[in-house]
Amino acid sequence: MTQNEALFREVNERVQDHAEAGAVGVYDYFCECANLDCTFRVRLAPAQYESIRADPKQFVVLPLHYTPEVETLVAEHDTYWIVRKTGEAGEYVANVDPRSR
Ligand SMILES: [Zn+2]
Repeated sequence: MTQNEALFREVNERVQDHAEAGAVGVYDYFCECANLDCTFRVRLAPAQYESIRADPKQFVVLPLHYTPEVETLVAEHDTYWIVRKTGEAGEYVANVDPRSR
């Protein structure tokens, strides 16, 4: 499951690269929840994504796309929630963080 989030994070990193090049307004980031089949998008300003992303264990998900077994809820906003991976899942995502390579 956690590999899925790591994969979507890689995709979102490319969205973020693009966004920073010409950044105004909001961009569509992939929901980074634990559901393998989830392909919903989360609309965020690049600065919002960046602030979530600054912590490698934090992920952006749609409201209610939250899996209490592997993560804790950090913040609830109208259009997105922020979750933090715990335990082994947290270690895994920190290790595969594209920015730590
Ligand atoms: Zn989702």
